[in-house]
Amino acid sequence: MAEVLVLVDHLDGEIKKSTFELLTAARALGEPSAVVVGPAGSAGKLSEGLKAHGAAKIYVAETDSSDFLTPQVSVLASLVESKDPAAVLIGVSADGKEIAGRLAIRTNSALLGDVVGVSPEGATHSVFGGAFIAEAKANTAHPVITLRPGSVEVEQADGAGAEETVEVPAASGRSATVQSREPVTGGDRPELTEASVIVSGGRGVGSAEQFSVVEGLADSLGAAVGASRAAVDSGFYPHQFQVGQTGKTVSPQLYIALGISGAIQHRAGMQTSKTIIAVNKDPEAPIFEIADFGVVGDLFKVAPQLQEEVTKRKS
Ligand SMILES: Cc1cc2nc3c(=O)[nH]c(=O)nc-3n(C[C@H](O)[C@H](O)[C@H](O)COP(=O)(O)OP(=O)(O)OC[C@H]3O[C@@H](n4cnc5c(N)ncnc54)[C@H](O)[C@@H]3O)c2cc1C
Repeated sequence: MAEVLVLVDHLDGEIKKSTFELLTAARALGEPSAVVVGPAGSAGKLSEGLKAHGAAKIYVAETDSSDFLTPQVSVLASLVESKDPAAVLIGVSADGKEIAGRLAIRTNSALLGDVVGVSPEGATHSVFGGAFIAEAKANTAHPVITLRPGSVEVEQADGAGAEETVEVPAASGRSATVQSREPVTGGDRPELTEASVIVSGGRGVGSAEQFSVVEGLADSLGAAVGASRAAVDSGFYPHQFQVGQTGKTVSPQLYIALGISGAIQHRAGMQTSKTIIAVNKDPEAPIFEIADFGVVGDLFKVAPQLQEEVTKRKS
């Protein structure tokens, strides 16, 4: 069976959920081989999780460099050359998009970007804010495919997980190097694209200070906090928490939208959430068209009551 390379996204010994989605999707194309690039000892902590999600092989490339981006491209490029895989799957993220673009150029491969599904016939894109589905097919060998997080339901499968060490090819002709990396700390809250519950606030929240209402409800639920672009542009919340077409794409079990109108660009990033609850004082707000449960009311009255009820039921 053809081999499918899956780039593992990991941090501090934890595998990101998006990698399990890639391993699940890869099985539609062939036999998944996980590719781990990271500091010495990384793979040891990851192998059980990768095996439990169907990785037949685990390629391990250890590097002391704090620049992981270039080594990831080089390692994948050398594996494409030596293993001739059916495809390379990478998650959609800031780094993932960068790696995929560089890899496609280096290996002369087609790039199918931001897909929501893969099959032997090609890949599926959800375009124009989810209004259209487009099917695409690569005309080259070993296409590079980036998969949008949350578009595939994770399924476990037994994989042999046979480890193989891979050399990190030496970088040549580089005019700049990354000296260090400082991960953005988001406190104790789960990461937005990994969270199973998200509470998001929009322009209706009114100010940065009043976002504490969104955070309070989120913390009672152990949820991540998101924001609409209008909230971000108004300076209520940092950009890295923006959900939507030009922000993060999320697909949690539960998405609670507080004071968000539901513009198509916001919906594009959250409409595949399993259950959507909207709180908006305007009964005509478009968010209610996709909400499973809607509350027409003032978020400053509804959210604290909801928080109180959640806290009561937990104790
Ligand atoms: C190219 C492009 C890309 C974009 N990308 C994104 C993106 O990635 N993400 C994104 O979110 N947007 C994006 N936008 C912007 C998008 O079109 C909307 O402008 C934005 O989503 C609106 O945000 P909002 O719903 O918070 O604000 P508004 O549309 O102003 O809605 C605020 C809502 O709050 C309600 N409200 C007010 N006060 C209260 C209260 N006290 N209680 C309850 N409800 C209240 C109002 O009734 C209203 O429905 C993009 C736009 C363009 C053109």
